[in-house]
Amino acid sequence: MDISKILEYQKLDSELFKIEKSLRDNEDKKIVNQMQQNAKIAQERSFKLDEKAKELEKEFSVAKNQYEIQRKKMDEIFAKDIDKLSKEEVERLVKLKDKLSQNLAILERNFAKLAESMNSLLSDFNKTKNAYQMAREQYSKSKLNFDKAQNEVQPRKEEISKQLANLEKGIDSKIIEAYKKRRAENIFPVVVPLTSNCCGGCRVELSMANLSKLKDEKVLTCEHCHRIIYAKD
Ligand SMILES: [Zn+2]
Repeated sequence: MDISKILEYQKLDSELFKIEKSLRDNEDKKIVNQMQQNAKIAQERSFKLDEKAKELEKEFSVAKNQYEIQRKKMDEIFAKDIDKLSKEEVERLVKLKDKLSQNLAILERNFAKLAESMNSLLSDFNKTKNAYQMAREQYSKSKLNFDKAQNEVQPRKEEISKQLANLEKGIDSKIIEAYKKRRAENIFPVVVPLTSNCCGGCRVELSMANLSKLKDEKVLTCEHCHRIIYAKD
């Protein structure tokens, strides 16, 4: 088997691989991904805070109703003409008044707690909003930079791809298929020489059986890294 063509193909492909790697490792791309994540987290947080705010609103309205009911009962007691009541009725009213006072005190404490919760919720809301805005701003800036970097290499990428497609026509389809599979896994180089009876990619030593197979067939798939090994003449 003539491996010079696949080696030529790989040599050209190495430039494409480098371009792709530089885009994968692009710092702005990493920021873009991170900021997308941050914005998503902030959004989820704000949904949760919104739900919490609705709960607090409900609690507040329940407490307010209870407060008004107790207040009204209290007013009714004060409106009564004590002189016209029997001793037992007065005693009963005094007890009721004490109970109502206690209830009102509890409700007032609840109000204070609810107000505290609302304040902390509000501050959490503002922090989340700021985090979201910051993420959006950083995202836009880095996205612009990354798009620019991508656009700069696009013509060369297309040129190489075209040339590769041409070269591919002269290569054994099984070899090119195996090559593309490894390449898609970002393994590079895919085609490596046998070096001191070892795979030129992962350095694992070949068995005697595989060495003789390689001698016969000229190429062999490494059992360890799945690269294509060829024997140098
Ligand atoms: Zn290997």
